[in-house]
Amino acid sequence: WRVVVTDWEYEDLRYEQEVLHHDSIEFIAAQCRTEEEVIAVCRDADALINQYAPISAKVIAALDNCKVITRYGVGVDTIDTEAATEKGICVANVPDYCKDEVADHALALILGWTRKVALANQYVKNGVWDFKVAKPIYRLRGRILGLVGFGMIPQGLNEKVKPLGLEVIVYDPYVPEETIRRKGAESVTLDELCKRADIVSVHVPLTKSTAGMIGRDQFGQMKQEAVLINTSRGPVVDEDALVEALSGGLIAGAALDVLEKEPIRPDHPLLSMDHVILTPHVAWYSEESAAELRIKAAMGVADVLLR
Ligand code: NAD
Repeated sequence: WRVVVTDWEYEDLRYEQEVLHHDSIEFIAAQCRTEEEVIAVCRDADALINQYAPISAKVIAALDNCKVITRYGVGVDTIDTEAATEKGICVANVPDYCKDEVADHALALILGWTRKVALANQYVKNGVWDFKVAKPIYRLRGRILGLVGFGMIPQGLNEKVKPLGLEVIVYDPYVPEETIRRKGAESVTLDELCKRADIVSVHVPLTKSTAGMIGRDQFGQMKQEAVLINTSRGPVVDEDALVEALSGGLIAGAALDVLEKEPIRPDHPLLSMDHVILTPHVAWYSEESAAELRIKAAMGVADVLLR
């Protein structure tokens, strides 16, 4: 079997090679950027492991032997899944490699923002030693955390915030109310969540129905002391509306790991806002999650070729 890694961004591919170490497998590491490059390397491949290289309908039409395509990550937006399915090619993602990391990161952003860690750090390093630069800070116990989406990551976050004494409300119309109640949270509508939450944390996947789901209407309903946390996907939040809400004082701040367009452009208004914390789409990452991602992406191929 020919297994091609279409593109990758690690120091080596030792985890993938270990999983796929087998007499019947020829392992090929490529760094394709364009459809033409993928077609040239992968035409007669039996399996692909894909990072960002485009696996479009055109590419899929040119694959003669491919049985499985796995993706390093949760999203499969680089792959035309419909075209693959029509051709009988399995597409596999790695949905669970970083659920703890992202929940931890959301928690870090919640604590970092509400305790003004980044802001205070900036002042101290610029020679200002004065707690008043962080004003106002409100006690966290008793405040309301609103979770938009209640999948794997926010359910983990819900457990992690219990010792902090936060009240948790949830908007996820696809999760039964009973499940939400059993986890010690309350199921509400999106409108109610926006009105009641002190911290709004977004955890829905990017789909047609979630793009721009947190926009002008939602910011208009939020409390002035509210903070928006986003560790899901940038386009779920309407960024123009967010910038307006932040500059107009409709909400108190934001802490974002993801943006509509990454990396952020150097003149982006969010960069000059003191009440905004930004991290570079790092929530998924730990040494362990990165290893797990690569092992599981390779196992997806092994499951199909070597079973
Ligand atoms: P999941 O698939 O377990 O759950 C998604 C939840 O969203 C489901 O419960 C679903 O019912 C809900 N949902 C879907 N559409 C909705 C809508 N219109 N309104 C309300 N709820 C809706 O996902 P997860 O593992 O919890 O991950 C959440 C998101 O986090 C992922 O989709 C991904 O985009 C993002 N993520 C980010 C990073 C990062 O590094 N920042 C890493 C991994 C995942």
